[in-house]
Amino acid sequence: MTDFKTILQHKDLKATHQRLVILEELEKAKHIDIDKLYNLVISSCPTLSKATLYRNLNELVSKDIITEVKVANQKNMYETTKLPHIHLICKKCGSIEDEVIDTTFLLNEVSKHRNFQIEASSISLSGICEKCLTKV
Ligand SMILES: [Zn+2]
Ligand SMILES: [Zn+2]
Repeated sequence: MTDFKTILQHKDLKATHQRLVILEELEKAKHIDIDKLYNLVISSCPTLSKATLYRNLNELVSKDIITEVKVANQKNMYETTKLPHIHLICKKCGSIEDEVIDTTFLLNEVSKHRNFQIEASSISLSGICEKCLTKV
């Protein structure tokens, strides 16, 4: 389990019980939308409102402790910030998998071709996952 207490303190955020529960659930779930996350978190933080959860998530995103993942035709997902990676999104079962791959070359090419200064990137591939492909 990641030491979120230290991570929060390094980013000048108090390691509150709420934040720790949110981060632990996020890490377990890997990618999760706010509604599903809320259902998990309230069992440990029964007084937490969805508005407070939303505020906490925004704070954690702004400190780059978690990342918002935009998925076409789905609610935004959240994940703990990891190494740069791309997302493989299955059209059949909706699963989201991480593929850790170095996209520096690709981004550099785009940046050169278009004279565009890239500040952030989020790459998602849509298709059919291995599990769904092998299911007969
Ligand atoms: Zn699938
Ligand atoms: Zn991811």
